[in-house]
Amino acid sequence: MDAHKVIEMQSVTKPTRSQSPRVLILGGTSEASELATKVAARADLTVISSFAGRVSQPRLPAGIVRVGGFGGVTGLISYLVDENIDVVVDATHPFAAKISGNAELACKTLSVPLIALERPPWEPKEHDCWCAVPDVQAAASMVNHKRNRVFLSIGRQELGAFSNCEDAWFLMRAIDEPNEELPANSKLILKRGPFHLNDELRLLRSESISLIVSRNSGGTATYSKIEAARALQIPIVMIDRPQKHNIPTVPRPQDVLQKLAELL
Ligand code: NAP
Repeated sequence: MDAHKVIEMQSVTKPTRSQSPRVLILGGTSEASELATKVAARADLTVISSFAGRVSQPRLPAGIVRVGGFGGVTGLISYLVDENIDVVVDATHPFAAKISGNAELACKTLSVPLIALERPPWEPKEHDCWCAVPDVQAAASMVNHKRNRVFLSIGRQELGAFSNCEDAWFLMRAIDEPNEELPANSKLILKRGPFHLNDELRLLRSESISLIVSRNSGGTATYSKIEAARALQIPIVMIDRPQKHNIPTVPRPQDVLQKLAELL
């Protein structure tokens, strides 16, 4: 059934509340954890951080934590009502578009304020050699050439897009073992960031990497690979972010605190 129709059929009422205002942070980023720590330090607010549950051993932030999908927009609406949520902060990864769309719809349905926190994308600097592509499929079609030794630095969920690339060789890095079918000629490293410039330089040199595929995630935790590529003059196929918000975004956790102060 169409999600919008389900929502129209529901009679959604929010119970009255007597506790301190409850803030739900849709997390999974370092900014979300930083924000959770800041909000949890305040006695006048209750913070709940929500994770999708993709990482087997997530770094847990301060405050209450829940893990797992809500069950689409309707599930999220039920959760917001049941848990008396006063404000939702969408601090999910710039490439996590579905949960952000669900959050916008659920908050609009309930008239719950939504704050979207999104770190700015990286911008190319002098000596960077980037080729921007709209998605992983476009990246996969660009890199499959015999001489390419590709550092595929896109996490683990979309590696399957490269499974038919039989000509190039791939170095892949992820936090947990991928479930996707991997390219035939490949090597997998399981490691969690942040990564440091000297280590990235060593890795790119030792594996004779000639091309990098990266998502334009922004932030500092994985930026050292971009700096290393610049230093070694390695080109990057840069996957653009999806358009995931229809509301204005703020770039930093402290901007969210400011918004919370205005709202609550
Ligand atoms: P998504 O496609 O936006 O979300 C898919 C579903 O996962 C949602 O519909 C929701 O399930 C659940 N979900 C996502 N975030 C949640 C949260 N914070 N709390 C509770 N449920 C949540 O996001 P994704 O599948 O997590 O990731 C999409 C892309 O973004 C991938 O390419 C991934 O690699 C990237 N990503 C990267 C990082 C990172 O590097 N730190 C973190 C997250 C995502 P229900 O519909 O059941 O509610």
